[in-house]
Amino acid sequence: MTIHLDLATVLLLHQCSFLVGAVCFVYMRIQSRGGEGLGALAAGYFALALASALAGLGEQHLLSVPVWGFGSIVLGMTGYALFWIGIRRLSSSKFRRMDWAALAIPPLAAVVAVATQFHVTSYLRGSVGNAFAFASLMASAVCVLGDGARERLPARIPLAASIGLGGLLALMVVVGLLARDVAPMTPIWAFFLRIMSQFAVALFVVILATERTEAELRRVAETDMLTGIGNRRWFMSRLPRTALKGSALLLMDLDFFKQVNDRFGHDAGDTVLVSFAGAISRTMRAGDSFGRLGGEEFGVYLPKAAPSEALAIAESIRKVVRTLVVECGGEQISLTVSIGVAAVEESQPSLTDLIKTADAALYAAKDSGRDRSVLFEPGIRAAA
Ligand code: GH3
Ligand code: MG
Ligand code: MG
Repeated sequence: MTIHLDLATVLLLHQCSFLVGAVCFVYMRIQSRGGEGLGALAAGYFALALASALAGLGEQHLLSVPVWGFGSIVLGMTGYALFWIGIRRLSSSKFRRMDWAALAIPPLAAVVAVATQFHVTSYLRGSVGNAFAFASLMASAVCVLGDGARERLPARIPLAASIGLGGLLALMVVVGLLARDVAPMTPIWAFFLRIMSQFAVALFVVILATERTEAELRRVAETDMLTGIGNRRWFMSRLPRTALKGSALLLMDLDFFKQVNDRFGHDAGDTVLVSFAGAISRTMRAGDSFGRLGGEEFGVYLPKAAPSEALAIAESIRKVVRTLVVECGGEQISLTVSIGVAAVEESQPSLTDLIKTADAALYAAKDSGRDRSVLFEPGIRAAA
């Protein structure tokens, strides 16, 4: 079976793929209340749909070549410049004003077109337009992948792949127009495959924007509003259901914190909690987790720490807190902390049992005078 693709149909589908994409971007923009880059992407896809519509009318001889040729090249280049700007803004968190300078290229091409009339010759117009599309799409794909180091989102890879595929197909069109003999496919086939890549780009842009929103919601749900460190939900998600051999849990409770509130006021108490969280965060090793469990109670999970090491870490935290002086409203507030340590040696307790164990050790630390770290030993449970 041979498939016959006629240019008018391909151009119509091409136009449809841009329109569907543009509608998706507008919808996402409204839904995400002004998601970065989506407006420029929508404008870019609308410009490309219009350029494609002009080319379609031209193919049906409804417009003269100088008119549709000029319109489609300028609109097409504007569309790809806007696409690049949109992707830059969508992909990275940093907004670069210089990016808008890309919009100076299409008017420049318009001036050259008026001066040289290159747009009247079909292969020249096609080559210039598609070479620009190739450059814009490749730069966009690189941008999407490059920003992955700053913000990991799974959709980056298929999005970059579909944009890159679109770029390569634009290059195929250029090769097909300039050197038909060496081209692996006809321009019309390259155009047809680009329709797929355009749909894929729209789909993965939507997925990327959704993934970002979800990541932000997760971050907010797992962050303690006051101190900015992980909250109880986050902390519990860091702990395995069954405690692993060689791991340890530290539970901490600030000593006589009610008195801090009573003497200096609740706001001063809040400032102390923020300073405490900041000071302890700075002592954490890579892989360790520190979170606020509620009130003035905090937890540290050490995935790799022998009992002696866990106790040493608890002691170093206790000493950091002892030397911490919080300045608030002209007052100097000092504080101490009690720490209960549960280390997993041979038997692997459930998460609930591990927490109970650390809690018993914390109770023992409070009971024996506060400002101390206690490593759980079997005798403690009976006392607790
Ligand atoms: P202990 O040494 O036995 O732990 O004495 P304590 O005074 O710290 O007693 P407890 O742990 O029962 O009291 C906790 C206090 O922490 C009670 C509450 O007023 C205060 N607190 C809890 N959350 C916050 C908060 O977000 N901000 C402030 N400022 N205070 C808080
Ligand atoms: Mg408490
Ligand atoms: Mg307390």
